[in-house]
Amino acid sequence: MVVACSDSRVDPTMIFSAEPGELFVLRNVANLVPPYQPDSAFHSTSAALEFAVRVLEVQDLIVMGHAMCGGIRLLLEGASDPTGDFLLPWMRIAEPAKHRVLQRTHGRSLIWHRPDLLPQRNMSVVAAAERSYRHSSRRTQGNPAVQ
Ligand SMILES: [Zn+2]
Repeated sequence: MVVACSDSRVDPTMIFSAEPGELFVLRNVANLVPPYQPDSAFHSTSAALEFAVRVLEVQDLIVMGHAMCGGIRLLLEGASDPTGDFLLPWMRIAEPAKHRVLQRTHGRSLIWHRPDLLPQRNMSVVAAAERSYRHSSRRTQGNPAVQ
């Protein structure tokens, strides 16, 4: 199973040269895995994990992050139009990763607005994407279907 970003530039089947039926792929904004919450809400990520592991008996799980992720950028900068109902709450899943990165970079993610600091900008975004990936990987392990 591969949990990947919805970004069309990072298609897991192309990256792994997979044929139809070889990969069970779950894609969402920024390849996030939300916390395990067994309630009556709609949890597509948890349902996909449960289906892959319990029904299809998938043995391997990969959370695949990528560079220059728009979701991670949104996480770091916030939305220019915060009127949507779902995107910002979804990205809050990665807030713990964001805070760890900002602590380590002393808030340098704000340099998206400083093109003169381009190398540091890339480093900060990559660090946030990496933290987010680790956070989601741990979340897959917290789901009873995966244990
Ligand atoms: Zn992305």
